[in-house]
Amino acid sequence: MATFRNLKFRSYWRSRRDVQCSVAYASCEGHDSPASAHSAAQGAVFVEANSDTNETMEVPDVENRDVDMPEGPENELMSWENDPDFFSGSYDSDCTSVSSQDDLSDSDLGEVLADWVKQYNIPSTAVNGLLSILHRYHPGLPLESRTLLHTSRNATFRSMPGGGTYSHIGITKNLQDIFEANPDDACFSHQHLKIQINVDGLPIFKSSTVQLWPILGILKGMLCEKPFTIGIYCGNQKPCNVHEYFAEFIDEFKQLQHAGLQLGDRQYCVSVHSFVCDAPARSFVKQTKLHSGYSACERCVQKGQWINKVVYPETDAPRRTDISFDELADKSHHNGPSPLQGLGIPLVTLFCLDYMHLVCLGIMRKLLLMWMRGPLRCRISAGMIKQLSENLVRLRVAIPCEFARKPRTLYEIDRWKATEFRQFLLYTGPVVLNGLLTETVYKHFMLLAISIYCCVRSDLCKHYASYARECLIKFVKLASQIYGEDVLVYNMHSVIHIVDDVELFGPLDNISSFPFENYLRCMKKLVRRPSMPLQQLMCRMSEMDTHKSSTQSVPLHSLSKHHDNGPIPDDMTDLLSVMTQYREFSANGCKLKVTLKDGVVLLKSGEIVCIRNILSHKAMAYFVCQRFTTRRPLYSHPFDLSDIDMYVVSELSNRLHTVSWNDIERKCVCMPLQDCQGRYAVIPFAHKE
Ligand SMILES: [Zn+2]
Repeated sequence: MATFRNLKFRSYWRSRRDVQCSVAYASCEGHDSPASAHSAAQGAVFVEANSDTNETMEVPDVENRDVDMPEGPENELMSWENDPDFFSGSYDSDCTSVSSQDDLSDSDLGEVLADWVKQYNIPSTAVNGLLSILHRYHPGLPLESRTLLHTSRNATFRSMPGGGTYSHIGITKNLQDIFEANPDDACFSHQHLKIQINVDGLPIFKSSTVQLWPILGILKGMLCEKPFTIGIYCGNQKPCNVHEYFAEFIDEFKQLQHAGLQLGDRQYCVSVHSFVCDAPARSFVKQTKLHSGYSACERCVQKGQWINKVVYPETDAPRRTDISFDELADKSHHNGPSPLQGLGIPLVTLFCLDYMHLVCLGIMRKLLLMWMRGPLRCRISAGMIKQLSENLVRLRVAIPCEFARKPRTLYEIDRWKATEFRQFLLYTGPVVLNGLLTETVYKHFMLLAISIYCCVRSDLCKHYASYARECLIKFVKLASQIYGEDVLVYNMHSVIHIVDDVELFGPLDNISSFPFENYLRCMKKLVRRPSMPLQQLMCRMSEMDTHKSSTQSVPLHSLSKHHDNGPIPDDMTDLLSVMTQYREFSANGCKLKVTLKDGVVLLKSGEIVCIRNILSHKAMAYFVCQRFTTRRPLYSHPFDLSDIDMYVVSELSNRLHTVSWNDIERKCVCMPLQDCQGRYAVIPFAHKE
């Protein structure tokens, strides 16, 4: 009561500050005490205050704390990115602040609050508490979080015969929502809508066996492809009966196949683009033998051999076909008919071998574990593991901002995520392993690294497909000689088939689990209480604007971190009065900065340059660059790597020249070489974040 009385006589602005504090406090709910909430709020302010300044002022995360900037002349080039004077220009913030909108109506405030609740995943009890405070000052606001967030109460739940519950949202509902939010997206200019499907199990609590089995989809061909939920099963074990699990999906899909889908004034055909799942989920959906069993290879007909485990030594066994699969021709491969049979979906070719699970979490992890803990003949010494870890940590300063994670030591390998194995395979591994592994083992690793790199990079994958296949077959054959015959398990064998998918679908990121994994991680966070997890999830998901386009209102490019410090090429100094200088540029998800970490790019001309300044004139961006004057191939096995633009570069030219965004082919990872002063390994980006 005392609190209320005090509030009652305060000025509007004082009250408004109180409300803002309430919002900050509520955002910290889930923390143990007001003190932690206070510190969290302080942290938020601190980060915001520094987020617009240079990177040297970033609050280091726990992972970054033990990292020192490398010293010595070899990092001379790297050092100017940390020069505080170089980054002292003012910054044009493009953030809009709620507090500047003084004429905010209650309904506007409701929308802002709803966005804030969704962004920070605020519990409904906290939202209800906040609404009851705000209601005194904004009577137009609802009193209940479900009203504020437009929570749908239409979800239906079906009890499954073997236990668990299933709720179906539907392909049609999602496509209608996507169309409504993005009617002008390029994918709706075609008559054919293709959906990629993902099925995976997701344990939600550490203390129980409760798990979710969502059926997810992605509408392929969109400018910004994002997963959506088609249906979710929740139970204490995986669905007992795959036919029951897929019942609604199949009914709906048959209906779509038969009648098509009307969106706006156009009629569309809907079909399956591909299925992207891990090996256990593929075997569950296809009703085939588990990956640890005999006859488990999904692409060739061979009975595995038992060498301590089931291995697949043949690399040229007869191929499975969609027809032979439909006829259940190889009885030893099938557990029974798949629920998808009869839908006209090719069940061999459309079930992709997802490289996130197969290669990153499968083979790359296995290789690292064998080097660390495997048989003596392939194990590396403790000193080499230490050296390798130090080399990886040293590269942390060179990892561009697009990467979610920076390299960690090998001692933490049991906690490495799929993106870290991918980063090691495609970028850091070829650099840090060179000279540490024996030449035979390093060359063997490079067969895998370069083949997968070519299969991931969109401009190389088709051209290098057959060469990558040859390299991967060689990799598998040599693996048994180097690591022993028992290494040829399902994953190691199946990589020889991965190029078939590249030939059919293009780069591996078109058919990888990475976007689904991110989506599942967010989905898991929406379940807060152990009771009725599926019901909670369906409510939270109905509140999300999952289909709101992030591309419709985004400008072609954006510039930030304005400054006046140059450098400017001599032939452009007379234009200085009409140009603006910036340190950061972003377009199409690519961020370029005037640092070695984020400013080394491959030009369409084939040159590798480093961006030193970004100029803007009449809505066009120009990049002031210095060219690396010396370069040689990063390595010469399995072929001369300069063919795919991988170089060791050094010596920046003194001359500044200017290029436009259209001159830039792709951004590169630029990694300092350990014992080569001023020399850098440059590897162009291949993967899609
Ligand atoms: Zn096979």
